[in-house]
Amino acid sequence: MSSHPRIGFIGAGNMASALAGGLLARGWPAASLWLADPSAAQLAAHSGRGLRTTTDNAELAAAVDVLVLSVKPQVMADVLKPIAGIARARRPLIISIAAGIPVASLQRWLGAALPVVRAMPNTPALVQAGAAGLFASAEVGEDQRRLAEQVLGAVGLSLWVEREDLIDAVTAVSGSGPAYFFYVMESMIAAGVALGLDERDARALTLQTALGAAQMAITADVGPAELRRRVTSPAGTTEQAVRVFDESGLGDIFQRALAACADRGAEMA
Ligand code: NAP
Repeated sequence: MSSHPRIGFIGAGNMASALAGGLLARGWPAASLWLADPSAAQLAAHSGRGLRTTTDNAELAAAVDVLVLSVKPQVMADVLKPIAGIARARRPLIISIAAGIPVASLQRWLGAALPVVRAMPNTPALVQAGAAGLFASAEVGEDQRRLAEQVLGAVGLSLWVEREDLIDAVTAVSGSGPAYFFYVMESMIAAGVALGLDERDARALTLQTALGAAQMAITADVGPAELRRRVTSPAGTTEQAVRVFDESGLGDIFQRALAACADRGAEMA
């Protein structure tokens, strides 16, 4: 495999644009990146940056070493069936970022046990701060694993899970996770306003605090529980807030919320 295998995205929407942009930013040659989409308008911005674009999925499938499936889950079967013969002949690494579609379904639609990586990214990928869980089928080789890490790692963190059902846990933690933090932000802004701050100030303080806490947690040599302990002085102000969270069972609420999310992911598969 050359140092820059050809990577093709079927479906040139938000996620594919983020991943292709991340690869370009990390020095991947534009001419080794392909995008296919039914909309020529959707492709125009990419071709302007030197990427290879086509409205014909089969043309892309015949040209690439890595096929990233970045269409909505409901169109996946219709997208794969017409290109299955080409994929069987060329045996590219398949990376699917579609939520809720198991490896077995992808291989069934492709008509062969091709090497498949199932990935669960999240929306912060759009700002190059994503977190993705990856699962590899038994057919995926070591070089292909590294390639999948490069593709998803171009927009943030990527890590492997060793059982496919753990993708549901990844969905519960990081796939859907941004929404939980947005929920906490909404709630803190509303609480700040209730305490008398104007909305703009409550928002600015909340968002900067979220960023600061995340940066501290990522760079610290201790875990979040210890960081929380360090900012919670006995009989101080923070302790009062934490007491209310504990009395309200916030930890249990998170357990139940993430379990419900993972269950829904398993049902959709
Ligand atoms: P998106 O912006 O809607 O992109 C999908 C693209 O695929 C659209 O441009 C769509 O065109 C195109 N498309 C539709 N039918 C096609 C076909 N037959 N052949 C080629 N392209 C076709 O969606 P997205 O947010 O990037 O999500 C893509 C995938 O990532 C989904 O499966 C989603 O489950 C998964 N995912 C997304 C996130 C996220 O945070 N966004 C997180 C995890 C996983 P039209 O618009 O013209 O239909």
